[in-house]
Amino acid sequence: MEKTLTCEVQSLSGEALELCYHCHKCTAGCPVVEAMTYGPDRILRMILLEQDDEILRSKDIWLCAGCYTCATRCPNDIDIAAVMDALRQIAVARGIPAGERDALLFHRLFLGVVQRLGRSHEAAMLGLFKILSHVPIYKDMDSGARLFLRGKVPVLPGNTRSAAEVQQIFKRSH
Ligand code: SF4
Ligand code: SF4
Repeated sequence: MEKTLTCEVQSLSGEALELCYHCHKCTAGCPVVEAMTYGPDRILRMILLEQDDEILRSKDIWLCAGCYTCATRCPNDIDIAAVMDALRQIAVARGIPAGERDALLFHRLFLGVVQRLGRSHEAAMLGLFKILSHVPIYKDMDSGARLFLRGKVPVLPGNTRSAAEVQQIFKRSH
């Protein structure tokens, strides 16, 4: 028998969704809720209602920044960032295209850079994202240039002694 969405999310995230009593505290503190369609507490309810299609095709699961604000505000200690992570994994496994254009590309580039260098490197990521995404190449160029001039986006990645360990982590997780 096919697993329900609730079971899949609970086993991937380890969170007890039924503890949510919809106090809305998570959603009130979420920094990206304005850009979402439903918001974190509605997403939790929709999982329990098995509204797979609406959730897995929504941009909400891709817009979640994993900032953990919701988790720290929740009186029931529900880690919604982990739930969103589980939903993204399920969407990818089911072959559902990301509800937010280029979000999956961004995730893959980030992980690819971390796997290769053992750390994040914004300049490499931004360069690749500009080339491969649908975002016009000139968009945000002025703020990007300011960051470069202030040394906030180093051209070369710094050294990291743990690159081999990070690569091992990736190998194990694959
Ligand atoms: S803060 Fe916790 S209990 Fe309240 S709505 Fe959000 S997930 Fe549910
Ligand atoms: S982890 Fe995601 S859902 Fe929670 S507050 Fe941050 S952006 Fe919003």
